[in-house]
Amino acid sequence: MAYSDKTRQAFVDDIETIKKRGIFKEKRFICSPQGAVIDVEYPEGAPRKEVLNFCANNYLGLSSHADVIKAAHEGLDSRGYGMSSVRFICGTQDIHRELQDKMSSFLGMEDTLLFPSCMDANAGVFESILEPEDVIIADRLIHASLVDGIRLCSAQYDTFKHMNMKHLEKKLELHQDKRHRLIVTDGVFSMDGDLCPLDEMCELSEKYDAMLLVDESHASGFIGRTGRGTHEHFGVMDKIDLITTTFGKALGGASGGCVSGRKELVELCRQKARPYLFSNSMAPPIVAGSIKVIEVLSKTTERRDKLEENTQRFREKMTSAGLNIRSGVTPIVPVMLYNAKLANDMARDMYAEGIYVIGFFFPVVAAGAARIRVQLSAAHEIEHIDKCVDAFAKVGDKYGIIGMDKKAIIDKYGM
Ligand SMILES: *Cc1c(COP(=O)(O)O)cnc(C)c1O
Repeated sequence: MAYSDKTRQAFVDDIETIKKRGIFKEKRFICSPQGAVIDVEYPEGAPRKEVLNFCANNYLGLSSHADVIKAAHEGLDSRGYGMSSVRFICGTQDIHRELQDKMSSFLGMEDTLLFPSCMDANAGVFESILEPEDVIIADRLIHASLVDGIRLCSAQYDTFKHMNMKHLEKKLELHQDKRHRLIVTDGVFSMDGDLCPLDEMCELSEKYDAMLLVDESHASGFIGRTGRGTHEHFGVMDKIDLITTTFGKALGGASGGCVSGRKELVELCRQKARPYLFSNSMAPPIVAGSIKVIEVLSKTTERRDKLEENTQRFREKMTSAGLNIRSGVTPIVPVMLYNAKLANDMARDMYAEGIYVIGFFFPVVAAGAARIRVQLSAAHEIEHIDKCVDAFAKVGDKYGIIGMDKKAIIDKYGM
């Protein structure tokens, strides 16, 4: 070990501080494919236990879908294991082009560029199209990867209050002197499950000559009548300039991301985006699996329809069981608890009841807004959903929070 004991102690102290604040992330090992029912080793070294998974981004249940696995096998056999290259040198196969074209038509956009992940798409898109005389105007609760991408570019940066269109309009007026304006938002916000008011944002972007970028990572595949996303939901499919999204959530759950949008903007990303130029290509089996995912979703809405039914059932039953959920329509359902320790304790007790969920608290969400975030999937059956609600009712009763609103829970447990 090259470093001194003193240096090492500083890092050990950092870890201790995290533990003392009660926000240390424990290891959990899944010893089965991803799905509604999983085998989990937790705590580390404990015997495996079968539990129901209610915290994956596996919205459409495609992570272990037989047709997707078969397509990935075929991709492995026909195009190999990996590219050993970035996209622009020798890392682009015909199947990368095929997936890009399929994504363009699925999302209703002119062109698409694949990236190793959506984090990388977000890291590359802003620097590729914006200069110091431009301004980005972003919702205050956008995803961390968008924040990081914005940090990497030279444009000016401003924000508007979460989903507050009056405030956005004010900022657009203020920045009329800039060369370009780019509005940035998540389609579905991952912590609250809110849908951004994309129709109003499109109107504002036209009125004030601004471009619009939407990160659709928690929407692609299931929001909108045929699962195209938030822009389909709001009837503005032809009005979005840029979408970034991931293949790591509803669209198969493996990895990869893309920028999709106006063809000249996508071309600029192809010329300039650093993760496209300097990070390895999406692996062929994953590209082949993702192509199958888009084919399946283009043919039938069966899975997003089942997800919608599951979501409705869960939301209704949780409300009648007296749990305090954040209202909405998406399969992201926060069970609001406000107090971090309460969220942590209840999640542990849910695990004992055979339900895998996680407590979220500061800094993942605002202080005083701790919760257990439940995510529904088309892979869940009615019995799974009912078992999850029953477990929440039982554990909620143990902590005496059934029927309580925000004020009552905070009076009892503090924030
Ligand atoms: C998950 C997520 C990402 C990152 O996607 P990866 O492909 O896993 O890098 C980006 N943006 C949003 C809004 C996300 O939820």
